[in-house]
Amino acid sequence: PATLGVLGGGQLGRMFVHAAQRLGYRTAVLEPDPQSPAGLVSHHHIRTAYNDPTGLAQLADLCQAITTEFENVPAEVLHALAQARHVAPAAAAVGIAQDRIEEKAHFTACAAVSGVMCAPYAVITTPDELRVVAAERADLLPGILKTARLGYDGKGQIRVRTAAALTAAWAELGGVACVLEKMLPLTAECSVLVARGWDGQVVSFVPQRNVHVAGILAVTHAYEGALPPALAEQARAAAVSIAGYIGYVGVLCVEFFVVADGSAHGGLVVNEMAPRPHNSGHYTLDACNASQFDLQVHAMAGLPLPQPRQHSPAIMLNLLGDVWLDASGERREPNWPAVLSLPGTHLHLYGKAEARAGRKMGHLNITGPDVASVKTVARRVAALLGLPGLDAI
Ligand code: ATP
Ligand code: MG
Ligand code: MG
Repeated sequence: PATLGVLGGGQLGRMFVHAAQRLGYRTAVLEPDPQSPAGLVSHHHIRTAYNDPTGLAQLADLCQAITTEFENVPAEVLHALAQARHVAPAAAAVGIAQDRIEEKAHFTACAAVSGVMCAPYAVITTPDELRVVAAERADLLPGILKTARLGYDGKGQIRVRTAAALTAAWAELGGVACVLEKMLPLTAECSVLVARGWDGQVVSFVPQRNVHVAGILAVTHAYEGALPPALAEQARAAAVSIAGYIGYVGVLCVEFFVVADGSAHGGLVVNEMAPRPHNSGHYTLDACNASQFDLQVHAMAGLPLPQPRQHSPAIMLNLLGDVWLDASGERREPNWPAVLSLPGTHLHLYGKAEARAGRKMGHLNITGPDVASVKTVARRVAALLGLPGLDAI
């Protein structure tokens, strides 16, 4: 049987491995951590750094096609692998998603076809640029200063209200390349998962609404009525054009802001994109007839892409390490029997040994026959486990 490879050994790699194995593929994971979630379940686990030539040669020898599960794999590595093997997504696409400056340039270039802009922003890469932006771009304040590279879960971001605060924040972030983004009055956030094949075939999931707490995704709402239908359709079309514009191959997640109508940037605003399955698409594992990981496998392996169909309304609750920690920081096992006795609860744990606050340990999908019962169960689970982010439903 053919072998499919993945760079990175986290939970996204683990769920990719599960999906690949279900189709009879063998799998290879390149990941230095010997106890990684994906390495633990894969046929092959190459334990080297992501840029180690020996490990990469081994991966290329084993695999017919290779993908990545995190965006910070060096783009050169994907480029080099692509000389010998099918690599999806391509180095160029991953490179764009790795760098907010390139990402925003891409969104801006697509705007004519996608119909959606990103938030007003300015690039700050040098002390001179900082001085100019601080002096001339009061329109971007209050704003958020974000490092161009390596940020996730709200890390590498500082909110600033004044030019003086901006100057201090840039120093605090280490004087690295950044973007200053105008803070927009969000009424909601949503994301869209698109899968695109080598032949340009595109399928997509229905957009889902996301709730973040302290910069980390807490809850995903995936059911009719979670978003206004016209807005959801606009987001889906925009995500498809954002993927098509660069001939993307694989699964792409595009995150959007929803801004109050009537305000200066009212409507849909594109935030960022991830060149892989995404936390906000985990509900597809239990609520759809093909998951985002199934589509990742199909896309990279050159199989036809099924148009996914959601068969149940769903809410996804993220399980961070906090759930395992009591008030004094001691580890305890959450009350899974109580959670699993509720109808339609699907528990996914990633096999991580150490629980730290904010660390993604697993997620819980709740499905049911109708939206009301899904919400009721979600509220009960949240109360049992002390999960945030469900107040507004
Ligand atoms: P991820 O883990 O999704 O990659 P990230 O660290 O790259 O996140 P962003 O998506 O840029 O960060 O921002 C994190 C969250 O902060 C957003 O989901 C949103 O809630 C809020 N936020 C970011 N930018 C803005 C903005 N311009 N206006 C208002 N809120 C914002
Ligand atoms: Mg991000
Ligand atoms: Mg984000």
